[in-house]
Amino acid sequence: MPGFRKMAAALATCLVLSLIGSAADAGGPLFVRDTGAAYVWSTAAPISYRTDNGPLSASIDEATARARVLGMFDVWQNVATSSISYGRAGFINPTGAFVGGDVDTLDEFNDVSTDCNNGNQSPIIYDADASIFIALGADETSLIGFAGACALDATQIISGSAMMNGLFQDGLSAPVPDLTTAEFDAAIVHELGHFSGLDHSQVNVNCLGFCGTDDLTGLPTMFPLLIDVSQGVLAPDDIAWISRLYPQTTGGTTFANTHGTITGIVFFSDGESHAQFVNVIARKVDTGANEDRKTAISSLSGIKFANLLGNPINDPFGSSFGSLDPGDIGLFEIPVPAGSYTVEVEPIDPGFTGASSIGSFFDELGRAPPPMPGTAPAPIGPIAVAAGATVSGNNVTLIGTDPRFDQFEGP
Ligand SMILES: [Zn+2]
Repeated sequence: MPGFRKMAAALATCLVLSLIGSAADAGGPLFVRDTGAAYVWSTAAPISYRTDNGPLSASIDEATARARVLGMFDVWQNVATSSISYGRAGFINPTGAFVGGDVDTLDEFNDVSTDCNNGNQSPIIYDADASIFIALGADETSLIGFAGACALDATQIISGSAMMNGLFQDGLSAPVPDLTTAEFDAAIVHELGHFSGLDHSQVNVNCLGFCGTDDLTGLPTMFPLLIDVSQGVLAPDDIAWISRLYPQTTGGTTFANTHGTITGIVFFSDGESHAQFVNVIARKVDTGANEDRKTAISSLSGIKFANLLGNPINDPFGSSFGSLDPGDIGLFEIPVPAGSYTVEVEPIDPGFTGASSIGSFFDELGRAPPPMPGTAPAPIGPIAVAAGATVSGNNVTLIGTDPRFDQFEGP
């Protein structure tokens, strides 16, 4: 399952603590069905979660932690254009070796995780001294938390979990310097995005280096790394995607009366073969206030399509999620607030591997994302998007890709 690291000088990859195997999707949903539709929680009732009956850290008690978790879920629940909501059902239920109280040993963690994998409860676990992170082989000095779905049925997410590393909040400078409260909560809001079914988004990737104020405004909470405390506030990308997965359909502010959708296909240079795993970004047209940096929403091409279909001999971690419709291979569908946009493409940053990956590259082998074939053309647009409208045919043809083997075949 995806985890969240504090940005460090070296963008190290992370060990993956996967409950479900490889995630199959990106720039939006974390898992897709064989129809290409996203796995989402039911919104018929608030999503029910349970919290650890123990301290978050040596200096943060259970009651304080519980209140903070509530506030972090509220960040997502308060999106006006989304219907997602959450409710705390109580403390984590006893199961197996876990008899209740603080989940603070590996055996207890494993039994609670098994119960989650069986779809019985959705635990939010505090690892006060990081002893469980360490027992799992995670790097407790850089991994702030991890989260994801535990169990899926045919169409929906039915349980999920999140894990929080208390070393970043224990008031001690060693072995890990503390994050501020707001920084730590920003990281866990990101984890609760995964819990909710969201994958990472790559927008304003220049923020790995220089990042201006307007770049930060557009930097998603679901960016693979914690770069700035401002990620505790959702960016337009986060708002668009949580609303796309859980659209608010009633009341004055619905997804359909605020957002539209830009679709297209990324092609190789032949203008015919679909290119998958290219990062596509819709940026609002700049009218003088740097709107292009502040309002930008991304998706990979081909997120509906099955990817990394493994074989059990040399690729045991291959994913079987996603559709097999060839028309989905290069397809992108990006939800945007109504307005005028350009569309540009770029490669997935090669540093985003393992638990920091975008798309299906999150696997135990730590594989690098595939490079984008050829080079990016100039951004296309402007594309006017009205609320409730889908503007299709915004195709992007990459420049200078290698020819296909079959290009000289007869009809
Ligand atoms: Zn993450």
